[in-house]
Amino acid sequence: TPVVAIVGRPNVGKSTIFNRIINERVSIVEDTPGVTRDRIYAHANWLGRNFSLIDTGGIQLGNDEFNEEIKAQAEVAIDEADVIVFLTDVTAHLTLMDETIAKMLFKTNKPVILAVNKADNPEQRNDIFDFYSLGLGDPIPISGAHGTGIGDLLDEIIKNFPEENELEEDDTVKFSFIGRPNVGKSSLVNALLGEERVIVSDIEGTTRDAIDTKFTADGTEFTMVDTAGIRKRGKVYEKTEKYAVMRALSAIDRSDVVLVVIDAETGIIEQDKHVAGYAHEAGRGIVIVVNKWDLIEKDNHSMKEFETKVRQEFSYLEYAPIVFVSARTKQRIAKLPELVKKVHANQNQRIQSAVLNDLLLEATRITPTPLVNGKRLRVYYMTQVATNPPTFVVFVNDPDLLHFSYQRFLINQLRQNFDFTGTPIKLIPRERK
Ligand code: GDP
Repeated sequence: TPVVAIVGRPNVGKSTIFNRIINERVSIVEDTPGVTRDRIYAHANWLGRNFSLIDTGGIQLGNDEFNEEIKAQAEVAIDEADVIVFLTDVTAHLTLMDETIAKMLFKTNKPVILAVNKADNPEQRNDIFDFYSLGLGDPIPISGAHGTGIGDLLDEIIKNFPEENELEEDDTVKFSFIGRPNVGKSSLVNALLGEERVIVSDIEGTTRDAIDTKFTADGTEFTMVDTAGIRKRGKVYEKTEKYAVMRALSAIDRSDVVLVVIDAETGIIEQDKHVAGYAHEAGRGIVIVVNKWDLIEKDNHSMKEFETKVRQEFSYLEYAPIVFVSARTKQRIAKLPELVKKVHANQNQRIQSAVLNDLLLEATRITPTPLVNGKRLRVYYMTQVATNPPTFVVFVNDPDLLHFSYQRFLINQLRQNFDFTGTPIKLIPRERK
């Protein structure tokens, strides 16, 4: 999906416009805890076109070099977006800093849309003509406070999206490495690409830089998502947590399977849990990759002990396989494509209803359904309605009686009878009268 970034100096109303776009006009596809507050990345839709939205104002370097910060934000937009919305403020008139930003945006050949915020009344809408002098085309008057002009802005945004066929889906297995800075994502990418000689291409994006790399291993075609973003190093903003999160969310969006990388040497910290949580919530396949295994003094128990720790910290990822690797020595690097392929097969598995119902019969026989406030749960029928992630509808007498623990039990039964390693499973209770 295309990416839209909002840039502009502080106080022009970037986050107001961001919220206007995602809250009022469009539906939010998912709501991930941790990004709801201070959210800078979200899914949006306008007239049937899906896109991702970034508020670059949320990416702060935390130093007092104001110009550095604005520069970093403009760079994020230029590097990440397909369409850039440059936001200004009519009540402040044209400022020097607006001109500085405009100069930076001139350097990109991506479409830039100039929006003038706080045009709340006709008089202010008249003042927007000053902004023609930026040389970025017609300014669009909008009002974050009143919500006016947002539709026109959105029309203009989607008009500038790359053609749909340029964003064409292919049927390769897509995966990405995600994780906080310094866990070794870039090193893993390089180790893997060194290993897999048959690199097909760096896909040249039409408007974006080449970000994906295709390669073939064991007869399967893979797309490593976001590779350039990982390999292209040295930007100031890269070390900010918000940027890391944004990058992870956008990589997760485009992947079938996500490799959550953690650092064996430093162990698991809070930020690792956020990153893993996003992948889990998005319903993607997951492999946990413990990197830098070469740095660990090992005995017979090291792996088991580390695994226990991982299972404790990521209890909701019990379905994810764990692999211990070293990007430096390449230990077990060649196993990664194999694992990704297996998880991808599992997440696309379809189980016939007849088989599911045999399983259900047996499950309710060994563990009778619970009695809740004097009323017994009855489970009638189960059917798979989707893959990737495997999604099952369970018909019951009353969905309120299907508590978390019995749902868990049913999911465990599915896992015991079929190989769903690496993929989350969704269960949807439905009432059958
Ligand atoms: P990224 O920010 O997640 O992309 O992390 P990098 O790939 O830049 O790696 C961060 C640092 O860890 C670099 O100094 C790497 O050389 C080092 N590193 C990465 N993988 C390994 C590994 O398997 N073993 C060791 N010893 N060092 C590693």
